[in-house]
Amino acid sequence: MSNRLTEPPTGADEPRIGVFVCHCGTNIASKVDVHDVCEYAGTLPGVAFSTEYKYMCSDPGQEFIAAAIKEHKLNRIVVSACSPLLHEDTFRNAVAKGGLNPYYFHMVNIREHGAWVHEDKASATAKSKDLVRAAVYRIVFHEALERKRVSVDPKVLVVGGGIAGIHAALTLAEAGKKVYLVEREPTIGGHMAQFDKTFPTLDCSACILTPKMSKVKSHPNITLWTYSEVAEVDGFVGNFKVKVKRKPRYIVEDACVGCMDCIDVCVFKEAKFEDEFNLGLSKRKPVYIPFPQATPQIVTIDPDTCIEVKTGKCKKTCVEICGDRNAIDFSQKEKIEEIEVGNIILATGFKTYDPARSPEYGYGRLENVYTGLEIERLINSSGPTGGHVVCRDGNKPKTVGIIHCVGSRDEKSNKWCSRVCCMYSLKLAHLIKEHTGAEVYNFYIDIRTPGKGYEEFYDRLQGEGVHFIRGRVSEIADWIVSPEEEGKLIIRVEDTLSGFVRRIPVDMAVLAVGLEPRPDAQEVRKMFNISCATEGWFLERHPKLAPVDTFTDGIFIAGGCQGPKDIPDTVAQAGSAAAQVMALIDKGYVELEPNTAYIDEKECSGCKSCIPLCPYTAISFDAGSLKAVINEALCKGCGTCVASCPSGSISQNLFEDAEIYSEIEGVLADV
Ligand SMILES: Cc1cc2nc3c(=O)[nH]c(=O)nc-3n(C[C@H](O)[C@H](O)[C@H](O)COP(=O)(O)OP(=O)(O)OC[C@H]3O[C@@H](n4cnc5c(N)ncnc54)[C@H](O)[C@@H]3O)c2cc1C
Ligand code: SF4
Ligand code: SF4
Repeated sequence: MSNRLTEPPTGADEPRIGVFVCHCGTNIASKVDVHDVCEYAGTLPGVAFSTEYKYMCSDPGQEFIAAAIKEHKLNRIVVSACSPLLHEDTFRNAVAKGGLNPYYFHMVNIREHGAWVHEDKASATAKSKDLVRAAVYRIVFHEALERKRVSVDPKVLVVGGGIAGIHAALTLAEAGKKVYLVEREPTIGGHMAQFDKTFPTLDCSACILTPKMSKVKSHPNITLWTYSEVAEVDGFVGNFKVKVKRKPRYIVEDACVGCMDCIDVCVFKEAKFEDEFNLGLSKRKPVYIPFPQATPQIVTIDPDTCIEVKTGKCKKTCVEICGDRNAIDFSQKEKIEEIEVGNIILATGFKTYDPARSPEYGYGRLENVYTGLEIERLINSSGPTGGHVVCRDGNKPKTVGIIHCVGSRDEKSNKWCSRVCCMYSLKLAHLIKEHTGAEVYNFYIDIRTPGKGYEEFYDRLQGEGVHFIRGRVSEIADWIVSPEEEGKLIIRVEDTLSGFVRRIPVDMAVLAVGLEPRPDAQEVRKMFNISCATEGWFLERHPKLAPVDTFTDGIFIAGGCQGPKDIPDTVAQAGSAAAQVMALIDKGYVELEPNTAYIDEKECSGCKSCIPLCPYTAISFDAGSLKAVINEALCKGCGTCVASCPSGSISQNLFEDAEIYSEIEGVLADV
């Protein structure tokens, strides 16, 4: 008589289990005695067939499984191979090809859990046998499950109107899909709109960006909402309900022709308030347009500085000049637009490191210390100095030091390499030299130029006479030791190639600040139910195989919000996210994994304890029946509610008691 607590079914459903053990080349076979595991599997109760194969996931491997199911009349399949994340679907399909419901299948990971974590072959083999035995014990309780289908709304929401959002929106719109593009600033363009030229080709940023921005505005398939933010997201893949907050701009967008007369006549004769787009290097009025090519080409009235908005007591010269166009409307209130979309692409970008956090560089204290982004604005002809690179006193610098890796590759700030600062430092070195003729020094730890044409650009800069000094700058100071240092900034660095500590006097220091997640990344993450990596970047589902997917179906990420990257990589990712979305739209439906939780209504006491615990907000309370209800489309099968339900009334497909207990029994059977 068997001493198992969980007895396998008998009769027509009597298990005929097939066990397929994979070598994974030498990945598994070098550490696990695959033949031994296979022989052992054949001795386990209910196993009718066991075999081994070099690459189970290959086409012949899959066909082998399908054929064995028919030949040996197998009704349960265990594949003992690598990670289910990688190949569970592959083998489920093979099982279905063999004519069996794909959920009569279980995968055992003897690669990561066996071969890769054990030093010696005996332990790896013994552990693999335990895992196979556990699977054989649990598989007999598997039941046939069906995947449910939900339809996909073909409309798409893109959040963030930098180059990533712009490119994704245009790709989708060109393919005939309806897109809502939501941007929180008064204009789209993101960081790219702030640059003068882009590396490595030095093409004019505006020349390549503004045609795309105009196209977004005029495209019949794109609804562009600037000065707006997503306030709420509900629903699931294919069927999201989104509330978008449209902040009052005090401008009727369709009526404003962008003549800017209102800016000229504003009661503030002089621009007085910090111009955010120019990073505070210039001033603007309460009514303003961020930059000449801003899209949409309309003004915005800043509620924090406009007298009329703040006190209601302005002469409203702007309204007067706008005249019959009636484009200024101080009665505007915040508006919520509700939309339904099937998929969402997050393209919310990055922020630059605040160098005030590294006081040794004197940023904010020493007036001629700038960030790279500020220099981008100084070089730009529509920037605060009309394209003249000058120090705060208005004079051209004769010597400039560019310090790499500020806030990157540093235990004290951010450990990661920001990937673009080497290249933008080289770009700025070239442009500063071109604009001023200054001697330019680049202080670097390593130069990293891993992109098409990037190494060639570095070579070009060396040929242009830019000085390169290897060493981390310890300090930028204004204390001098000789008359020739008078009025200069002193850059102190250990030159690790010559072995000397050097003092280099410069007129201007440029900090090549690194890239960081935006400060509100956590709020955005929570609202869209996605994950962040430890550093705060949005987390992709798989770094190599699913780089723009998230763990939430129907939500994709692209560009700087996923991690530091340059424009070519951003555009490639945005195109990829758009393609993923199109694939879902064109298929018309998505299939949902059936490993969801379900509630036994009779047992549910309506205590509601499961509701706040569900991380996917899949559980609600039915006021009529006074029971909790799980929305299968939202449930991700994490099991939290199953474990928490005090009355034990929640179960989960594929993880029911019989399956779990017999798996535990199986793994311990030999102990
Ligand atoms: C100084 C500097 C120079 C550079 N020079 C180059 C170069 O020459 N060549 C190159 O290839 N790369 C360069 N880069 C890198 C380049 O900036 C990025 O690759 C690119 O900007 C990434 O685009 P993005 O759309 O992902 O992000 P962003 O440009 O940051 O755009 C994100 C957009 O999303 C909006 N947004 C953010 N949060 C929300 C929200 N919650 N709701 C709505 N909207 C939101 C933002 O307002 C912004 O418009 C440089 C970077 C820096 C810092
Ligand atoms: S609000 Fe009126 S005056 Fe101001 S830019 Fe628009 S159309 Fe011109
Ligand atoms: S299993 Fe997880 S995702 Fe599904 S309802 Fe329960 S707690 Fe929510």
